[in-house]
Amino acid sequence: RSRILQPETERRADTHPLTWRLRDDGETVWLDEYLRKDGYQSVRKALSEGDPQAVIAAMKEANVRGRGGAGFSAGLKWSLTLQGGDMPRGYLICNADEMEPGTFKDRLLMEQQPHLLIEGMILGAYANNSFYGYIFLRGEYVESARVLNRAIDEARDAGWLGQDINGSGFDFDIAVHTGAGRYICGEETALINSLEGKRANPRAKPPFPGQSGAWGKPSVVNNVETLCNVPGVILNGDDWYQGLSGDRTDDGGTKLYGVSGPVVKPGLWELPMGTTGAEILDRAGGMRDNRQLKAWLPGGASTGFLLPEHLDLPLDFDTVGKEGSRLGTGLLTVVPREMSMVALMRNLEEFFARESCGWCTPCRDGLPWTVKLLQALEHGQGEEGDIELLDKLAADCGPGLTFCAHAPGAAMPLETALRHFRHEFEQGVSKPRGKAHEDPIPVGQ
Ligand code: NAD
Repeated sequence: RSRILQPETERRADTHPLTWRLRDDGETVWLDEYLRKDGYQSVRKALSEGDPQAVIAAMKEANVRGRGGAGFSAGLKWSLTLQGGDMPRGYLICNADEMEPGTFKDRLLMEQQPHLLIEGMILGAYANNSFYGYIFLRGEYVESARVLNRAIDEARDAGWLGQDINGSGFDFDIAVHTGAGRYICGEETALINSLEGKRANPRAKPPFPGQSGAWGKPSVVNNVETLCNVPGVILNGDDWYQGLSGDRTDDGGTKLYGVSGPVVKPGLWELPMGTTGAEILDRAGGMRDNRQLKAWLPGGASTGFLLPEHLDLPLDFDTVGKEGSRLGTGLLTVVPREMSMVALMRNLEEFFARESCGWCTPCRDGLPWTVKLLQALEHGQGEEGDIELLDKLAADCGPGLTFCAHAPGAAMPLETALRHFRHEFEQGVSKPRGKAHEDPIPVGQ
């Protein structure tokens, strides 16, 4: 089992709210140990104070931004959920469909300290008046499912889930729902359709799930890491949370940052929000075998390529956004100098084309077309105009032109690769316009 690679001595409750309870042996922190390490204290506090609106206010003040990738204010999302009056009580849904390539942070949280997630979900449910919670879990995360189900049973047996939690009069329970391994199920409205037993096509927004979600009821969808941030905010307050990132950024808290690719020690670390790419790469021991860094994705395949010159920027949502990329999940993928950007993009676009639900035309038809063009360029059989066509296909998949963020997510690495490494794509053009695809490219090459 992979671990969060951080020496125990570095982890402290006041500076590492997500990871300080982790065991060095990588085993799960079960309920007894979790309670010994101040577990469920935030639930005890919030439920005894009896003011759900105060939980939302604390989240807003702390400026907890969604860790699934988009960075939307979690407190604002909660404040927009319809509740009270004639509204039925709704659902609190944890998005654990972690399928962003290069991303493995939520899996480690769920497998190593499932009770932190359950604690965060109880607080979220209390704030949003949700009567039931689902953890929508990526199908391949078999070990996470086993751990979560056992932890939920432990919590229920001890009175932290079910009827009248901790004598407060508040009822809430959780079920784990495993998905079938489709990337689109991570899009919150496709997730809700899937949960309802329907085909996982995204729904139009608005209405946002907080207004009308699962089975038409108000439903709050939050990422695993986001929910794991809530107990610390409630126990220690928004000033403490803001202070965790120091003067690096206006975004509060810590972030699970990680690195994959040809580095010495690929891994995951809890660091202050706004830590730079250079510091994170340093944690990973730098590039392996004296390789040179050519480019990097800051947070998964659906973010834009950054260059070595961007390594000193604080990795927060707004700063990365200003560079034409986005923070995404905060798990870096590094690209070494010898790697062909054309081959890399062909690989990524094959993934996005395969995972398209087929609902919108630019995504359904544009992404396979992109793959075809990239295959031709990779084999030196592109024709004049292909690169401009790729530019257009990327633009046609841009924000606002499709139901969901899948196609814009596919377009961002392509658009940035074309911008920063155009010469590599140009090298694949060998034919005049209209001649390229006379020699079919063998499928899968
Ligand atoms: P989004 O910006 O459309 O929405 C983000 C969240 O904010 C949603 O929950 C949405 O409901 C809420 N929201 C936005 N505007 C709102 C409003 N006016 N009122 C109420 N709520 C509002 O982004 P998205 O499509 O949910 O997610 C895209 C992100 O997902 C990308 O940045 C990508 O990095 C990330 N992603 C992550 C994974 C993963 O495995 N973690 C996989 C794929 C994509």
